[in-house]
Amino acid sequence: MKINIAIDGPSAAGKSTIADILAERLGYTHLDTGAMYRAVAYDAFRKQIPLDDENRIVSMIEAMDLQMLPDGRVILDGEDVSDEIRTNEVSMGASDVSKLEGCRKALVAMQQKICEEGGYILDGRDIGTVVLKDAPVKIYLTASAEARAQRRVLQNQEKGLEADYEQILEDIRKRDYQDMHREFSPLTKAEDAIEIDTSDLNLEEVTDLVLKIIAEKTGD
Ligand code: C5P
Repeated sequence: MKINIAIDGPSAAGKSTIADILAERLGYTHLDTGAMYRAVAYDAFRKQIPLDDENRIVSMIEAMDLQMLPDGRVILDGEDVSDEIRTNEVSMGASDVSKLEGCRKALVAMQQKICEEGGYILDGRDIGTVVLKDAPVKIYLTASAEARAQRRVLQNQEKGLEADYEQILEDIRKRDYQDMHREFSPLTKAEDAIEIDTSDLNLEEVTDLVLKIIAEKTGD
């Protein structure tokens, strides 16, 4: 039987990349929950709804047609917005809307519904603590803010996006602070999660470590 796997941690710690690799190796599906908060922020920008207007944001979510495809594409009201939701502006916007209790409740319910049959790897900030409280495997990925900023610079350069190290580092610190200090479901390591500091590890080393943890927990 396929289980669900929870991966949490601060921005740019490599959660999505690792979740993609694990999904491929294990035949699971990766659900990027951060992309859902990004889609909400993007839709709010587009509709000029203030990001702190909880009532309007919740009504907007209820009316939105959000499809999280198994290949990672994000389809909002029939339009592929996978690239549009990756800008710095949308990153900060996602952190803003994610503070709203109503927004979190709505997205958590969608996430739990998507993965109810098992076979999913969810990455986010509240997966081990809220969305998949009973997941048999919980990983908490961290790295220093500097190591994360450096990686994001390389990633952005590859994609031809803005890649100013100081700006990215500042944004990462700001988002860390906001995500860790919000009132509802702040980013924190679940008691039963295994923490991996990836600052001095390459992708292969992190993947091997996580696969070992999964094998130990599931006997696979
Ligand atoms: O993971 P990503 O950087 O794409 O997430 C964007 C923002 O969405 C985060 O900074 C965080 O505020 C929010 N988020 C959240 N809970 C999740 C996933 C993301 O609050 N499960």
